[in-house]
Amino acid sequence: MSNRLEIAGRALQRPLCNHCLGRLFASVSRGLSNDQRGEIVRSSLPGSPAPPADSSECYVCKGLFLELEKFAKIAAKASEGLEFNNYLVGTKVDAELREREEAFWTEVGAAETESIKTELNREIGKLLENKLGKQVEFTNPDMVYLVDTQFDRIVLDVAPLFVYGRYRKFSREMPQTRWMCRECRGKGCPRCDGKGRMYDTSVQDMTGPIIMRHAEGEDDFFHGMGREDIDARMLGNGRPFVVEVRRPRKRTLDLPTIEKEINESAKGIVEVEGIRMSNKAEVRSIKDSTHPKTYRVRVRFQSSVDHGKLNDVVGALAGKPISQLTPNRVVHRRADLERHRTVRSIRVESFDGLEAVFVVEADSGTYIKELMHGDEGRTQPNVAEIVGVPCEVLELDVIGIGDQGG
Ligand SMILES: [Zn+2]
Ligand SMILES: [Zn+2]
Repeated sequence: MSNRLEIAGRALQRPLCNHCLGRLFASVSRGLSNDQRGEIVRSSLPGSPAPPADSSECYVCKGLFLELEKFAKIAAKASEGLEFNNYLVGTKVDAELREREEAFWTEVGAAETESIKTELNREIGKLLENKLGKQVEFTNPDMVYLVDTQFDRIVLDVAPLFVYGRYRKFSREMPQTRWMCRECRGKGCPRCDGKGRMYDTSVQDMTGPIIMRHAEGEDDFFHGMGREDIDARMLGNGRPFVVEVRRPRKRTLDLPTIEKEINESAKGIVEVEGIRMSNKAEVRSIKDSTHPKTYRVRVRFQSSVDHGKLNDVVGALAGKPISQLTPNRVVHRRADLERHRTVRSIRVESFDGLEAVFVVEADSGTYIKELMHGDEGRTQPNVAEIVGVPCEVLELDVIGIGDQGG
């Protein structure tokens, strides 16, 4: 303790407000505010000077703590009209003050300190708790008030909102996500007919903007549990997705109405179900998921094929690992890698000598079209080679996502 009194004695060579005195000993005891702590330190040191009558004379903060109420007020005003359940306060303090504070710690030998930013965050946070009737939340706040103490400015860092659902896609001419024109990057040019996009619409366009409108947000992002090809339908139990809305003004959404609006406006093209609130952790798990998928694929052989050959296909592929080099159709935009996947099951649903329909369950990430035609030998083994007749894929549907039954 005597050492602490020495530190206090050295510190009080300068004019200090109780906040800035107390902060030198912030980690000594809990349960007190710094100005209370400063007052106790001061009174326990015989002959110590009173705090400056005008705290703008405080050597460290130059009276910044006089402005707490003002900061809380402009912060509360900045968030008017926004729905949020909790928040956190962050402050920006000018560099000169921070450097002065740190030099001062060294000068007086204080080691149990707290930074002025931490105290400002906490004190503004407390005032806001009263004004807003909401609690500070440290780990996952709906919003962060960034208080610029030098220019009396508030920046609101609003946490995005996440909505989960499953979609079915009945079109063979539509991508999952909005696809900007490569030429003009969305501005509009001859290549994209001035639309700025490669496709008129997408699953994202049929879901995101509706959710965004309800949340009064500014931008929408689409996270799918993988994606099907543009020309593949997504049927069965549907594919899980999460729409992320940036800077939402509303966080309580009428989910049944949203689901209904999406299904009415996307009638016959896209269908969603199971719409509910989600979170960032679920986005991660959706993106990292490696559930198997089930496909229905219709192929046509170049010439008629003996029935027995299809049994060879089943025998050669069911439960077997396959090797796939990055398909020719995507190798221009993806690394040329070899991947190993397993065909978990395969059966023939129908066959007329020329056209066959297979139902294939395979590991996540298997290239099904290439498994059929072989991609010039880049997928091994493949249906065309086993049969001994080249084939083309006429239709591909995803009919089941393995994250749940159905
Ligand atoms: Zn001060
Ligand atoms: Zn364009």
